[in-house]
Amino acid sequence: MKKINSINVGTKVLSIIAVFLIVLPICFFGMKQIGFIVLGDFLIKASLVVGSIITVISLILLIIELRQDRQLDKYFTNHCNTKLLLANSLCECQKYGNKLVRAEDTCCKICGIHFEKYYDSPPYI
Ligand SMILES: [Zn+2]
Repeated sequence: MKKINSINVGTKVLSIIAVFLIVLPICFFGMKQIGFIVLGDFLIKASLVVGSIITVISLILLIIELRQDRQLDKYFTNHCNTKLLLANSLCECQKYGNKLVRAEDTCCKICGIHFEKYYDSPPYI
């Protein structure tokens, strides 16, 4: 399963939800009150339904992301004395993230930890 990452999209999603749940219903209600549109009630309900659907989908994705983060944290906590192969044929020390570890190194030059195992990839990429 691919790792879900919502670091840079949180404010955009919240803005879209606010538009559908707050801004558009208020605009449609105002237009309905002055007689500008006839289908005011339908548009308000449609906007609320779309906003609710986006909210539910976002919450489900956030829950999945938090579960993945917990699994990753557990994985790296249990594998802190290992090195992970990177794309540039170097390895990364899983204790503090030193990315200048060579494949043949038996210990990290930064933190001094002795590597016990060698992993090709983390659970999510
Ligand atoms: Zn290290």
